[in-house]
Amino acid sequence: MLVNGDWKKRFIVPKSRITNHESRLRAGTSALRCAGTNHGEKMREVDVKLITEKLRDLCMKANTDLGEDVFQAFDRAVEKEESPLGVEILKELKENARIAKEEKVPICQDTGFAVVFVELGQDVHLVGGNLNEAIQEGVRQGYKDGYLRKSICHPFTRANTGDNTPAIIHTELVPGNKIKMTVAPKGGGSENMSRVTMLTPSDGIEGIKRFVVQRVKESGSNPCPPTIVGVGIGGTFEQAALLAKKSLLRPLGSKNPDPELDQLESEILTEINQLGIGPQGLGGRTTSLAVHILMMPCHIASFPLAVNIQCHAQRHKEAVI
Ligand code: SF4
Repeated sequence: MLVNGDWKKRFIVPKSRITNHESRLRAGTSALRCAGTNHGEKMREVDVKLITEKLRDLCMKANTDLGEDVFQAFDRAVEKEESPLGVEILKELKENARIAKEEKVPICQDTGFAVVFVELGQDVHLVGGNLNEAIQEGVRQGYKDGYLRKSICHPFTRANTGDNTPAIIHTELVPGNKIKMTVAPKGGGSENMSRVTMLTPSDGIEGIKRFVVQRVKESGSNPCPPTIVGVGIGGTFEQAALLAKKSLLRPLGSKNPDPELDQLESEILTEINQLGIGPQGLGGRTTSLAVHILMMPCHIASFPLAVNIQCHAQRHKEAVI
């Protein structure tokens, strides 16, 4: 525990170090530099300009280059789909994604809200500016240079901000000296169908199933099925929503590392795919490609549950600096 003036010893940098640091920055040849720390990790300096550059590229790539896991999920769905129209639509969606990838054009006209996840190594020292502004600038450049639709507006006047900012940024401090950034553009149609609820503890697992399946049923064709259903269980009101969103980053076709949640995912998916909504809501077995769940402990009086629905344009790209 830090007492009295102890915090100053920890956080005030000796003047000599500031001077060295500034002169290194003025030399400014490389974005990355290393220095020793007293706990074995190598401290790295990262110029935020590098973050802006990476973010710009990630925004463009995420919007045009659908992951191989989604292509494979389309193939598996075609095999299982009973509706001829459903099969046709799934093939069209795959073809659309193939053309987007090849011609580097957006998979969908809705290029989404730029949601950015940052895992910031605690042994990284950011230099050259402000992390938040560097990210916003990367999004600004990516949406401008990639000719991606700007979809962000003032909630009342609906005036467009003009550059798809602000991005939504979720930053997490992690061990190490690297920075991992993930850009996950989120379309409005599927985001609108998402919900958070506070179940009662006695609702149990059956309560979760009921709510999630009902949410998908009520959403119908609005979130452009086949969807991926992200589910966040536990934490607090806002944390459940974040868990649901984060669960969407897991590759399609991968197993949940928790066997109990893995089982629950497949039970909910089976129920969803019996609803008959089908690809694009025109009937069939493939209403959702997957259900992904993330869970954490909650308060003894609470049972938060969030459902974040993701359309078939399941876009996200990551980079590590
Ligand atoms: S929900 Fe997805 S597929 Fe539908 S319009 Fe929005 S981004 Fe495009």
